[in-house]
Amino acid sequence: MAATRTGKLYRLIVARFRSMGNRGFNNASLEADFIRSYQSYGVRFLFILCLVGALCFSAFWLAELTASGMIFNERQNLRLALIGSLLAFARLTQRHQRFLTTHYSFACSVMVVFTAITTGYLAHLTPPSSPTLVAYWAITTSMVLITLMTYGFARLRAGATLLLGSMVALTAVWFAAKVPHFEATSFHRMLIHLGAANALGYMLYRFAMLRERKLFLQSKRKNHIAELRRMKEQAEAANRAKTAFLANMSHEIRTPMNGVIGALGMLNDQQLSERDRLFVKSARDSARNLLQVLNEILDFAKIDAQKIRLNPQPFDPRHTLSSAAQAFQATAEQKGIRIRHDLTQLPVEVRWLVGDAGKLRQVLLNLVSNAVKFTQQGEVLISARATQPNPHEARLVIDVSDTGVGIPPDGLERLFQPFYQVESGTNRSYGGTGLGLAICKQIIEEMGGQIGVRSVMGVGTTFEIALDLPCSLHPPGNHQAADDTSDFVDSLPAPSSDVRLEGDVLLVEDNEVNAFIASMTLESLGVRCQQARNGEVAVEMFKEQAFDLILMDCEMPVMDGYEAVRIIRGLEADDTARPRTPIIALTAHALTGDREHCLEGGMDDYLTKPFDREALALALGRWLPAATPTGLSAASDA
Ligand code: ATP
Ligand code: MG
Repeated sequence: MAATRTGKLYRLIVARFRSMGNRGFNNASLEADFIRSYQSYGVRFLFILCLVGALCFSAFWLAELTASGMIFNERQNLRLALIGSLLAFARLTQRHQRFLTTHYSFACSVMVVFTAITTGYLAHLTPPSSPTLVAYWAITTSMVLITLMTYGFARLRAGATLLLGSMVALTAVWFAAKVPHFEATSFHRMLIHLGAANALGYMLYRFAMLRERKLFLQSKRKNHIAELRRMKEQAEAANRAKTAFLANMSHEIRTPMNGVIGALGMLNDQQLSERDRLFVKSARDSARNLLQVLNEILDFAKIDAQKIRLNPQPFDPRHTLSSAAQAFQATAEQKGIRIRHDLTQLPVEVRWLVGDAGKLRQVLLNLVSNAVKFTQQGEVLISARATQPNPHEARLVIDVSDTGVGIPPDGLERLFQPFYQVESGTNRSYGGTGLGLAICKQIIEEMGGQIGVRSVMGVGTTFEIALDLPCSLHPPGNHQAADDTSDFVDSLPAPSSDVRLEGDVLLVEDNEVNAFIASMTLESLGVRCQQARNGEVAVEMFKEQAFDLILMDCEMPVMDGYEAVRIIRGLEADDTARPRTPIIALTAHALTGDREHCLEGGMDDYLTKPFDREALALALGRWLPAATPTGLSAASDA
């Protein structure tokens, strides 16, 4: 208790001492910084002071010893003790720098008291001495020390410095005048003391000012950097939250959308009246549009979260370009414009390239969809040319030009920013999210290429993509067709084919509506379907019976899809007689990375919800044999 009170008192005195005539900081962290780094200089200064003191006393000691004919007297012994203690203190400042830094004022006070006592005693030993002379030397010498320390470390204002200096000098002179038998040599010595102390103190003061300025700037910069870092972290956290929100929402929306699209897909148009057919068509179109918006937002979320992963494979650029042109043929025809593709400038040597054809197609689809959207008459031209700087690499340049409304010059600069649309506000007539081009830019840059735009208002716009891609000696495998469509599989108009498959399928799905739709779709594809409501039931059923294929939802109560697959793969490993059952994951999580997660978990394929009949047929077709033609397949309208 008493200790804390003393501590408090000590701190109060220190604070008062420090704030006397000095320029306080109005910033606590700066003050702390100052004390820390500044007073460590103070401690170093004490060290130097002790050494200089010890050196001076050694000189006096030697001089007096030779003068007195090498006879030791009490005065010289005391000097010797003094030299010893100064050296000891110098050593202390080295070893306990930390302690002295935090207790700087304390250390200074000890030094001052020590100097006062020893100098007083020395003066007392000097004949002829009187109490006044003793007091005189004690006071002037310790004052010299006080001056030095205060100048150096109390951050005095210039006025206060001047005042203190003159006060010390005046006191000394006043004492000197009072002292009887005062010798001229003593007076000189005193003047030298004071002069040197003031000059040295002032130098320290200047040094301190400079140091302080540097410190202030440093600390300002430090605060600035800390502030920036905090802001950056906040922004990143907000961004992560946004991406997570988008991913969750997409999951939440995709699950019911699966029901809507599936149910609409199952409606048999033939049995509907003309009026109802129109209603169903509107509902289907709207669902597809909604899905497209959802896909775009998701794509952006993926890219924003740096989750975009390229999957480079050999591909045929001609195929990718012409299929992108074809995708919007119907829409263009309805608007009365033409879509052409010109591949004549693609040299024959550039046959196959290695790259992510699916992503490239996604970029092209967005550019072509923009071109068609913003063109009222004329045509959209997709042209490609390639140069081969060496036999292993080709530079592919693709232009998508239109004869549409054009983009104003100030719009060109901001075109690739997310959510930017030239026509914004309430009079928008084109719709869309404004994310398309931002996604394109991200994808192309990820591929190491460039995307640019030129436009003349009222004449037309040209987007240009340039990519450096390795050449492939081998033709693409079967996957190109699948990869090309994977990103847009559920947003493209469904081709009306009638696939018939064969096999026993186990459908594991907890959502009642989705399970109903999926089972109806499966039946319409000709496969026999059994249902399980969660992973546990599925595992039990799997033990009882063999299936040709399992469709496994990933998120389910009781036991999720990943766990169920793990157990099923374990059972298969134990029973070598049993063939491996293909498992297709069904998930509403459409972010890239989920696919890898499913495949790593032992599944063979992946289908994002909502899927329509065609997507399901495509996925099943990879694993199940086609039904042997019967009378039914004659219903095919191809
Ligand atoms: P989304 O693609 O997300 O459905 P969007 O087409 O509006 O919406 P972007 O593809 O990013 O978004 O295009 C951004 C804007 O750039 C468009 O809104 C349009 O103003 C302008 N723009 C893009 N392509 C063209 C073009 N070919 N002609 C004229 N303006 C264009
Ligand atoms: Mg667009």
